[in-house]
Amino acid sequence: MTEPAQALCEIRDDIAHAARIARRKGEDVTLIAVSKTRTPAEIEPLLEAGQRVFGENRVQEAQAKWPDLKARYPDVRLHLVGQLQSNKAEDAALLFDAIHSLDRPSLVTALARAFEKTGRSVPCFVQVNIGDEEQKGGCAIADLPALLAEAKAAGLPIAGLMCVPPADVEPSPYFALLAKLAADNGLSRLSMGMSGDFEAAVRLGATHVRVGTALFGPRD
Ligand SMILES: *Cc1c(COP(=O)(O)O)cnc(C)c1O
Repeated sequence: MTEPAQALCEIRDDIAHAARIARRKGEDVTLIAVSKTRTPAEIEPLLEAGQRVFGENRVQEAQAKWPDLKARYPDVRLHLVGQLQSNKAEDAALLFDAIHSLDRPSLVTALARAFEKTGRSVPCFVQVNIGDEEQKGGCAIADLPALLAEAKAAGLPIAGLMCVPPADVEPSPYFALLAKLAADNGLSRLSMGMSGDFEAAVRLGATHVRVGTALFGPRD
């Protein structure tokens, strides 16, 4: 087995184990293989091993990399996990199957327009700045109800909430807070957990974990 395929097996086992501890089903957790900065040659072993859900953080990079791979693996699903500029909303709607970075009213407007124009309407996660960090993307917790109301009014399909907790501190309280915010707002999906903390995220209800380095090795 190739190294990434081996890592894939182990991560799937870890997810299943964390789900079992939380009395959840492993199948209820979607593993998003975050392939940003990776070449098609690096991605291919995971496709060969059966992985079909991938995450990218740049529209242009994904446009350059994925059309060829998608032609050969048509059931691939791409998730946008990075910040989205409003002027790229249409390109994102055409290429991605889910967007995890809806974080401001201007992007609600841009995505609603893009979905109407392209005839493709893809599930969106609202990204929450869960640790109230200055440099971080995501809407402020206090602004979440208003942003959700705007997204609903604009007809966007809202899947759930997404967060990236502060680095180098125990992430569990932030995962629990995101889960509570989702429940309070009647949302069922939670995009949380990365290479270092996806098991904790699954124990606290993650339905989508976004894993890069644990699958592919360190990024340069
Ligand atoms: C890069 C990235 C990930 C994956 O991070 P790893 O630590 O490599 O697993 C997950 N989510 C987002 C938003 C990212 O930008």
